[in-house]
Amino acid sequence: MPSRRALIAGNWKMHGLRASVAQLEVILRANGRVRSDVGLMICPPATLIAEFAAVARGSHVAIGGQDCHPEPSGAYTGDISAEMLADAGASAVIVGHSERRTYHRETDSDVRAKALAAWRAELVAIVCIGETQAERAEGKTLDVVERQLAGSVPDRAEPTNLVVAYEPVWAIGTGLTPTVTDVEEVHGMIRERLTARFGGSGGGIRVLYGGSVKPENARELLRVRGVDGALVGGASLKADDFLAIAAAYA
Ligand code: PEP
Repeated sequence: MPSRRALIAGNWKMHGLRASVAQLEVILRANGRVRSDVGLMICPPATLIAEFAAVARGSHVAIGGQDCHPEPSGAYTGDISAEMLADAGASAVIVGHSERRTYHRETDSDVRAKALAAWRAELVAIVCIGETQAERAEGKTLDVVERQLAGSVPDRAEPTNLVVAYEPVWAIGTGLTPTVTDVEEVHGMIRERLTARFGGSGGGIRVLYGGSVKPENARELLRVRGVDGALVGGASLKADDFLAIAAAYA
């Protein structure tokens, strides 16, 4: 079994002003609170990436974007390319978050194009997948997640260019979480599909859990077999909570 380095990534969504750099500074000063083999990443709004990347340069904290356009440049008002994120100092980008899929109607093929754009700019693509409440209630979770995984992840994925985030839509921002058994079942299926498709490389690709991860439940969720870390929304906005989640890897 290839060893996979745990990753705790914070998705700040549309939160944060320049003063929020203070939260990043707390994380950077927290030496010893988090095991050195646990990777940390903050994905702030695009307006803060350059400043955060400059502050975090040379540290153990990576900076990521929250979305990118498939094209490297062009007449796409308001959009940001993967190359721009890389130029600002990001090393990764989240693609296919359920809020993008819902509010911007992004399909699996859009997400796949964005992941390819991330690779073109030498960014790690963090591809999000997950079922809705209705799909879970109808017993379709594994089918939906498997279909999203197949459609959103491009060929030639490797541990160095891809992270998958399993985020049940109904668990995002709601305080609800799946049972440990449910998380283990979905992560097991994702691992099996990654290995079937990418062979040994698939065994090394990290699969994060996301959806209402908090300091109080982090230990239980991060211990689940097949969970290689967490994508954290709300609880990543406060440095102390984010660090407490990462410190669950005692
Ligand atoms: C997310 O938006 O990716 C997320 C997991 O949010 P939250 O932790 O707030 O549920």
